[in-house]
Amino acid sequence: MATIDTLIDAAKIQERVAEMGREISKDYAGKEVVFIPVLKGSFIFAADLIRHIEGVTTSIDFLGLRSYGDGTETSGVVQITSDLTKSIEGKHVIIVEDIVDTGLTMEYLLDNMKTRQPATMKVASLLHKPARTRIKIDIDYLGFTIDDVFVIGYGLDYAQNYRNLPYLGVLNPDG
Ligand code: 5GP
Repeated sequence: MATIDTLIDAAKIQERVAEMGREISKDYAGKEVVFIPVLKGSFIFAADLIRHIEGVTTSIDFLGLRSYGDGTETSGVVQITSDLTKSIEGKHVIIVEDIVDTGLTMEYLLDNMKTRQPATMKVASLLHKPARTRIKIDIDYLGFTIDDVFVIGYGLDYAQNYRNLPYLGVLNPDG
C-alpha cells in the first residue's frame, strides 16, 4: 500500500498563506480585486488565502480548466471547462493557482485572460517547481518553491484523490 511522506505540514502552509494574504492586502489596500481560483486544485488554497485579505473589496469568480496529459504531466493543451461568470474588463485581477510546473497552463491562461482586458493581472501560486520550467512565468505571490516531485494534498490530487489532506505530501508507492 502506498504511504504519503509529508513535504510541507499544515501549520507551515497556514503560516505562509497568512503572510501571502497580508502582502496582497497591503498591495491592494482600498482597491477592488477579483480573485480567480483555477479549479479544482486551488480551491483550498484560495479559500484560506481570501480569509487573510483585509481592507480590500474582494470578489471571487472561478475558472475550470482541464489540461490534457498522462496523469502527472501536462501537454500544454488546455480547455476551459467552466468560464468566469462576469466580465473582468477594467478590474484588478489575481489568478490563484495551486502549482506552476512547466508554466504551459499558466501561459495559456494569462494569454486568454489578457484578451478580456483587466486593468491589472497578477498571479498567486501556492507552489512552483523551477526545475521543470518550460515557460517562465512571473509569479507575483508565491507560497513555496519545491523540488521536482509530484505533490498531493491541500487541494492537489492524484487521480482525483487526496485533495482533502490538510498538508502537502508526496506519494510513496512502495509504502
Ligand atoms: P503546468 O502546465 O505548469 O505544467 O502544470 C500545471 C498544472 O498541472 C497544475 O495546475 C496542476 O493541476 C498540475 N500539476 C503540476 N504539478 C503537479 C503536482 O506535483 N501535483 C499535482 N497534484 N498536480 C500537479
